[in-house]
Amino acid sequence: MPDAIVIGAGPNALVAANHLVDAGWDVLVLEANDEVGGAVRSGELVEPGFTSDLFSAFYPLAVASPAIRTLRLEEHGLRWCRSALACAHPTPGGAYAAVATDDVDATAATCETYAAGDGDAWRALYGRWEEVGDRLLGALLTPFPPLRAAARLAAKLGPSGVLPFLRFGVLPVRRAGEEEFAGAGGPLILAGNALHADFLPESTGSALFGWLLASLAQQVGFPVPEGGAGQLSGAMARRLEARGGRIERGAPGRPARRAAPLRVGQRHGEGGLDPGRADPVGGRAGGGGRDRARRP
Ligand SMILES: Cc1cc2nc3c(=O)[nH]c(=O)nc-3n(C[C@H](O)[C@H](O)[C@H](O)COP(=O)(O)OP(=O)(O)OC[C@H]3O[C@@H](n4cnc5c(N)ncnc54)[C@H](O)[C@@H]3O)c2cc1C
Repeated sequence: MPDAIVIGAGPNALVAANHLVDAGWDVLVLEANDEVGGAVRSGELVEPGFTSDLFSAFYPLAVASPAIRTLRLEEHGLRWCRSALACAHPTPGGAYAAVATDDVDATAATCETYAAGDGDAWRALYGRWEEVGDRLLGALLTPFPPLRAAARLAAKLGPSGVLPFLRFGVLPVRRAGEEEFAGAGGPLILAGNALHADFLPESTGSALFGWLLASLAQQVGFPVPEGGAGQLSGAMARRLEARGGRIERGAPGRPARRAAPLRVGQRHGEGGLDPGRADPVGGRAGGGGRDRARRP
């Protein structure tokens, strides 16, 4: 019996399964589909030999995520590709606002074509990201509630910076675009990215997400896995299996019969959750103790 059964082999589950295996757990992943990846998959849709992504396509957050970075997926076949322009928003007349991967001046130049001074407005907006982006990501990507990460963010902002940042955090992207830029270019960059995250231009908080995605585009680009999205999931699966984790494909997991909450150190027993087999100091359910310090 494995120490942990992970239901589903989407990217979140594969990250969790990899971290459990790294911590010494015996992990079994059950995936209902015949292939791993969930909404991070690709296939031959158009004609043989042409790979298309079936759902998601670009992964700035995967590149920025500490949980994924530590997996070193490049050692398991993942190759990231980046384009010179991470994203672009063309407008009538031939102009376009674009985020140029790792080139702030080039991004600023596209904003400047819409209004004098908007290039510097982009530099200032991205400068805010350079100051606090890593701490903001820490707060968003660490387990909830992210108290320590939020405290680090507040410390970086300083007493005079917290309130303006909180205000920016709830602004609709339409309003933020009007406040930050004189022309249409910068707002289009922010709004396009906010709408990608399923916000409306008037949604509370849409400015923060538009800024976050646009800033990641500036910093790391919009990376895509060479060979399609499935290569990201594939690398996670290969890493897991190379370290002894198992994945059963075409194997739907059913909810455990008894839904008692697990306690610290408790493992699944034979036949689903069995609170009677709990071992809160770290023994394997059904015998064979294990050092609790190895748990994540
Ligand atoms: C159209 C689309 C476009 C997107 N674009 C992007 C993008 O460009 N960039 C980006 O970063 N994100 C994008 N996303 C979001 C991203 O794909 C998801 O955030 C991510 O896939 C969520 O991963 P997950 O592991 O939580 O779930 P999922 O990817 O949904 O995976 C869940 C897995 O669990 C399996 N499963 C469910 N129930 C069971 C069961 N009982 N037994 C066994 N298996 C089960 C499913 O078959 C599936 O394989 C997009 C999503 C969609 C739908």
